[in-house]
Amino acid sequence: MSPSESIAAVWRRGAAAIRRANGNATADLDARLLAANCLGLDATGLFARERDPFPPERLAAFSALIERRVAGEPVARILGHKEFYGLDFRLSPDTLVPRPETEGLVDVALELIEGVAKPFIADLGTGTGCIAIALLTMRTDASCVAVDIACEAAAMARENARLLGVEPRFSVMVGDWGGALSPGFDLIVSNPPYIGESERNDLSVDVRDHDPAIALFAGETGLAAYRQLIPQIASLLAPGGWTALEIGTAQAPAVRRLMQNAHFSAVAVRKDMAGHDRVVIAQKAAT
Ligand code: GLN
Repeated sequence: MSPSESIAAVWRRGAAAIRRANGNATADLDARLLAANCLGLDATGLFARERDPFPPERLAAFSALIERRVAGEPVARILGHKEFYGLDFRLSPDTLVPRPETEGLVDVALELIEGVAKPFIADLGTGTGCIAIALLTMRTDASCVAVDIACEAAAMARENARLLGVEPRFSVMVGDWGGALSPGFDLIVSNPPYIGESERNDLSVDVRDHDPAIALFAGETGLAAYRQLIPQIASLLAPGGWTALEIGTAQAPAVRRLMQNAHFSAVAVRKDMAGHDRVVIAQKAAT
């Protein structure tokens, strides 16, 4: 990369390298995000300065970022943060990168508590805290207990809650799903691990080598977490309370059955933007 090149020429060169390596459909966006980060600019700032020369002293740093992406590391991991529901979440190696399809779980959960004043929410397997914190941001009268089995994830969730200004209504604990919680929740949400061990080799490198395995895999068929969670949720919800769980596309029939076995009513499946089954909702009987 020659020192006299413009910012645009340099990020395009980076994008080409990413495209050559993994044919990534987001190569341009990836390279722009990495260039902006490297130059201390936001997306608008980068756009405004595209014709300026790329500062020569930052070229080596930019190349290093591009090399990490070429080697398969996701941009969110390289930058250490990811946007979810319009909020910026910090990541640690112990947290899943929040996914756009999980924003649909937040939408569904908000619908379920629409008529509930001061809803009391639990988020099981909170990771970055993205679901819980998005809910608290949208419902300023809500409070939430979030649980994660990994201390480092729980600490990251607490830090995200502090940075996003919802900490007073957010408590986080380390635990095995809801095992240590007391009943009385209006809503329990979870995006648990749901990939089967047998599907490990079908995953992209971005996911398989960079997201924490404990956040991805749940037994041979991916249903292990639901088997544990659903009976617990049934006993933790207040009468009339709702649950919304993210699922893998092929898991709706099995998760629906688990819900019915746990005596939930109003079991229903919601689709994501791509038209795939993505969230199962269910209500605990009122009496
Ligand atoms: N609840 C977190 C999220 O949706 C973590 C999910 C997980 O680790 N499986 O990002």
